[in-house]
Amino acid sequence: MRGSAQPVRIHASEHKIQEEQICERADAIIRKLQKAGFEAYLVGGCVRDLLLGLTPKDFDIATSANPEQVRKLFSSARLIGRRFRLAHIYYGRDYIEVATFRAPHDESSQGQVNEQGRILHDNVYGTLEEDVWRRDFTINALFYDPVRGDVLDYVGGMQDLAKRRLHLIGDAEQRYREDPVRMLRALRFVAKLDFVLDGPTGDLIEAMVPLLNDVAPARLFDELLKLLHSGQGWKTFCLLEQYKLLPILLPITAASLAQDDQGIYRKLIQSALSNTDNRIAEGKSVMPAFLFAVLLWEQVHSQMVQAQLKGHPELQALHIAATDVLRDQVKVTAIPRRFSNITREIWGLQSRFHHRDLRRANILLSNPRFRAAYDFLYLRAAAGETRVAEDAAWWTHFQEASPEDRLGLCKNGGKKRRTKRKKTNPAASE
Ligand code: ATP
Ligand code: MG
Repeated sequence: MRGSAQPVRIHASEHKIQEEQICERADAIIRKLQKAGFEAYLVGGCVRDLLLGLTPKDFDIATSANPEQVRKLFSSARLIGRRFRLAHIYYGRDYIEVATFRAPHDESSQGQVNEQGRILHDNVYGTLEEDVWRRDFTINALFYDPVRGDVLDYVGGMQDLAKRRLHLIGDAEQRYREDPVRMLRALRFVAKLDFVLDGPTGDLIEAMVPLLNDVAPARLFDELLKLLHSGQGWKTFCLLEQYKLLPILLPITAASLAQDDQGIYRKLIQSALSNTDNRIAEGKSVMPAFLFAVLLWEQVHSQMVQAQLKGHPELQALHIAATDVLRDQVKVTAIPRRFSNITREIWGLQSRFHHRDLRRANILLSNPRFRAAYDFLYLRAAAGETRVAEDAAWWTHFQEASPEDRLGLCKNGGKKRRTKRKKTNPAASE
């Protein structure tokens, strides 16, 4: 096994973390915990990102204080989680996460593993030395003490950071069995950090993929969103395909892609995910509902056509198809209704883009989902879907036109004037 009981201590002069990069609140929490006699460190993604020269998403703290002791020290602390109990210290609506060091599991009720080796509870508190080994990857197991300025490395994480490789701590098979979501985390970090999977950390994934079938759909939904809204959504999607994870996480999407002879559907997904990546890079908002509208569209569309052939009117056919497809996907990734309802609206508005009379066009334009529905229509047209190019062009023109021109467009049915297409690619917007 790599790593040792004695950590490598990297002093402030030997690493590139600067004091001023540390979130002041996290720094104050750590000082207060240490003053009260506890050990406290920054840990996980923030240490990794700082060492890589990236801006951390959030600053997580690990401490020897147990959750109750944290609550007593900080009046704004709230304890959360049953499977993994920890404290959130609130500053208005923001909070900083403070987790107690965990120890390896035994058979007690606080720490349990099921017959497949999966962790059910993880509430056995321990020491820093023990906590290191239950973390997932070496690069995520570095501890930083902002008071002394030292980084502690028990597992060779600094070396893996330098070599840009992702390496599970301990026995890779056991670690994936304990928590199959680590496979998804692996691909997320590879895409986000531009790392490579090292040895068994990568080699084992294909064989272990079925373990994900046992993970709670609510957790898979959260992980899927993190994967596709990581800022490297398209790259991550390709990795999911490469490592055969798509049929497990997005079976409907995988089936659609398997029969996508002309590549139209693939192009739709690629442009939607690439636009989402661009929006994230620009600090703009992104919509989970849009993502699912894209990922499930081919199946919804083809089931809708089937229902129409059976005699259902268009909207009813869409309703039947959307209900069926969403129900199947929700079994795998529990999409909350607040998102899936918007996905339905985006689909539902697609047929209304055929209308050309001014009153209906203006009603559609003022619909709160117009923007997302139009962006979706535009991507469908750009991907080469049949019979939507004309609608997309007409609506692009209609939105840009003056009120008089809009009237003209509607009177002549939008067919006489040559329509011009927007130069920039729109993406999902809220
Ligand atoms: P991100 O930048 O995406 O937040 P992160 O590494 O901080 O990346 P978190 O989900 O915030 O990811 O987790 C914080 C830390 O907790 C990780 O760095 C890792 O040490 C540990 N951790 C999280 N999830 C797991 C897991 N499934 N198994 C083992 N350790 C985990
Ligand atoms: Mg984090």
